[in-house]
Amino acid sequence: MGQAKQRGTKDQRVAEAKAKIDALRPEKLVCGSCKTAFTDFDAMSTRNMPGIHAAFGGICPSCGETVLAFSGEQEAVANAMIAWQDAMEDESKLGKQSGSGEHVPFEE
Ligand SMILES: [Zn+2]
Repeated sequence: MGQAKQRGTKDQRVAEAKAKIDALRPEKLVCGSCKTAFTDFDAMSTRNMPGIHAAFGGICPSCGETVLAFSGEQEAVANAMIAWQDAMEDESKLGKQSGSGEHVPFEE
């Protein structure tokens, strides 16, 4: 055969990571402030967030609130939300994804 089955080239890994994030991407985010659902949001880097598999963030088109969603290990998600809350000085309403992949607004 002569062709070793290549596994895990950099491009493949990047593509796989992207596919994984795409798979975790919720259909929409829901603003925790005014409950507006919107689909215009971006995946965010999770490099410094161990246990977080994907993070998404966008600006509510209705009220301008920053809306974030984390997907990953439950404890890591909770920690990430606390870290974000600290970073945003509680100005940001956070959200999480339920097990079914639905985005649920974070309520205090
Ligand atoms: Zn809003």
